[in-house]
Amino acid sequence: MYSLSPFSKHRSRQYRNSRQRYWLRSYLGYPLVRDTQPNTTHYALAALQHTGHINHLITQNVDGLHHRAIDHLWDDARIDTRILELHGTLHRVHCQFGHVVSRDAFQDRLSASNPKWKAFVDELEATGKKPRTNPDGDVELEGVSYDDFVVPECLACLAQGRHNTNQKPELIFFGESIPQSIKERSFRDIERSDKLFLIGTTLATFSAYRLVKHALELKKPVLLLNVGPTRADGLEGIDKIEIATSRVMRDVVRAVLGRRASIDPVIVNLLNNGIHRPPLDDNDG
Ligand SMILES: [Zn+2]
Repeated sequence: MYSLSPFSKHRSRQYRNSRQRYWLRSYLGYPLVRDTQPNTTHYALAALQHTGHINHLITQNVDGLHHRAIDHLWDDARIDTRILELHGTLHRVHCQFGHVVSRDAFQDRLSASNPKWKAFVDELEATGKKPRTNPDGDVELEGVSYDDFVVPECLACLAQGRHNTNQKPELIFFGESIPQSIKERSFRDIERSDKLFLIGTTLATFSAYRLVKHALELKKPVLLLNVGPTRADGLEGIDKIEIATSRVMRDVVRAVLGRRASIDPVIVNLLNNGIHRPPLDDNDG
C-alpha cells in the first residue's frame, strides 16, 4: 500500500499552487506576446536573410518575432534551420515526457478549462483595460483566485494513462543550462559563418558571450552594434558601434543591397514594415 505523509501532501499542494499561479499569469500575459508585431530591425534582418547575406541568425529572444518577420517568405523547415532560438520560445509548450503543443493550442485549452478567466481576458481585450494586480504581481479577480485555475492535462500523456504531468513553455528558465543540441548547433553556426554581427545585445548571458569568444578564437571578424556597456567590451578583435539598431538597420540594408533595396518588391515591402520603436528602447537580441 502507498500513502502520502502529511508533509508530502503539503508539498504536492504547494507545487500545484505554484503551477496554477504560473499558468494563470502566463494565460493572462500571452495575448500580448501573441499579438506583438516585429519591429523595423526584425524586418531589416529578414531582408538580409532573404538575400542570403545572413545565413544563420541566433537570437536570445523568446518572442518568435524573427520567425514572424520572415514567415511569409520561408516555410517552417527553412526557418528552423536558419534561425536558432538560444533560450527557447514562448510559442511552444512541452511536457516532461517530451510531448509538444503550440502555445496557441494550449491557450485555447486553458480558455476552455477556465471559462471565468476567459470572460475576464475577453473583457480586458475589449475594453483595453489593464488587469488590477496585488503586490505579488498576481491579478485580482473578485470571487475567483488562482486556486480555481485549472491547468489542463497533457493529452498525449492522458492517452497513455498518465495524469498530472508537468507542462511548461519551451524556455530556458533562469539557472537552467541550454540543451546540449542547441549549444552544439550554436557553435556550428558560428563555425559556418565568415563573420559575426552582434545586434542590440549586452551579451550578459554566458551562452551568448561564449559564442563571441569562439568566433574570436577562430579569427572571424566581429562587429557589435549596441548602445551602452557590454560584457565583450575590451575583448581584442571586436569593432563596436554605439548606435541604436532601430536607427540604422534599414540604412544598413540599403547600403548592402544598393539599387536592389529600392526595386525588389520583396525588399521594399520588408523595409516599409515594422513598428517604429523609440531608439532608446533597444532590444536585447
Ligand atoms: Zn505528455
